[in-house]
Amino acid sequence: MVVESGQGPWVTVEGRKVLLLCSNDYLGLAGHPALASAACSAVERFGFGSGASRLISGTSPLHEELERRIAAFKGTESALLCNSGYAANTGMIPSLAGAGDAILSDSLNHASIIDGCRLSRAQVHVYAHKDMEQVEKILKKTARAGRRLIVTDGVFSMDGDLAPLPELCSLAEKHGAVLMVDDAHATGVLGGNGKGTVEHFGLQGKVPVQMGTLGKALGSFGAYVAGDGDVVAYLLNRSRSFIFSTSLPPAVCAASIAALDIVEAEPERRARLWHNRERFVQGLHAIGLRTGDSESSIIPVIVGDSEAALSAGAALFEGGVFAPAIRPPTVADGSARIRTTVMASHSDEDIDEALRMFSRLKSEGYFTDGSARS
Ligand SMILES: *Cc1c(COP(=O)(O)O)cnc(C)c1O
Repeated sequence: MVVESGQGPWVTVEGRKVLLLCSNDYLGLAGHPALASAACSAVERFGFGSGASRLISGTSPLHEELERRIAAFKGTESALLCNSGYAANTGMIPSLAGAGDAILSDSLNHASIIDGCRLSRAQVHVYAHKDMEQVEKILKKTARAGRRLIVTDGVFSMDGDLAPLPELCSLAEKHGAVLMVDDAHATGVLGGNGKGTVEHFGLQGKVPVQMGTLGKALGSFGAYVAGDGDVVAYLLNRSRSFIFSTSLPPAVCAASIAALDIVEAEPERRARLWHNRERFVQGLHAIGLRTGDSESSIIPVIVGDSEAALSAGAALFEGGVFAPAIRPPTVADGSARIRTTVMASHSDEDIDEALRMFSRLKSEGYFTDGSARS
């Protein structure tokens, strides 16, 4: 599927205008003119490419300014820019745990975390989704390992549920493990000020390593790791994806700074996002559709069977709603789904339009399987 227009609640796909219901542009910033104009001004001043990695000659004033802004936004001592969330996880995790160490990783963690764990050469213990008893068991069993790292998505990307961060925090503290949270889907979205899951749960200062992306709710590109100064300095000197890769173009940093300005100045975008989320979820429930354990702007509509999910996805698109089917092995067997996401830029009419389509397909029998199973 090629999206032929700019980002927005309605996009052009294969020549047709469809309602976008699967983007991570949660606050509607990807197409915001302030980001575009900040990027253009930066291009005029710095040109486009950065020319080298950060530790050679690829650090511009905008890279440093953005790092200061992220640290201030997150309320941490320090922050480090990464080229993407994928690069952050594959670079940071192997810096935090290596041979002889142990990593505890939730079974529904994102692929970039899984790959980071593999690269680390640490012993990886995958615990059942949010199973805190199992986490404690593994922590006891690995008491004699070197370093122990617990890593979790803050918001799980296929189900939209939240990690039990307070419990993970106390377990990490009690057993001397390091806790790392991936706030890719929480940055700009969760917490009173959009700072992420740590703010949402009131755990400021208690999660030593927080990473997040600038490519989702912030509508830009790149990612960050935020934490204490010594943690960030250590990662800066160890993370291979940071050291051995060309840095972000300065214009991308300028767009991210503009996005942070908006996130801080316009809390109403977040309020609008949650309003849309409630309207959509309640509408789906009223139709009799299941949304699993979703607690966020990621709302899976569980179908069950893969073929059924595929035909529901195709029928939605025919009806002008763009939200694809997600099948095993990306999700568990028998839990194929339409993965929807709402954005602050959706109007009530947009949400209602999507609900009308889901309602029509439901009455045509597309979701019968999921209602029975989930
Ligand atoms: C999207 C995502 C990433 C990767 O971030 P990018 O900046 O897109 O590379 C990492 N972790 C999670 C949980 C994600 O959803």
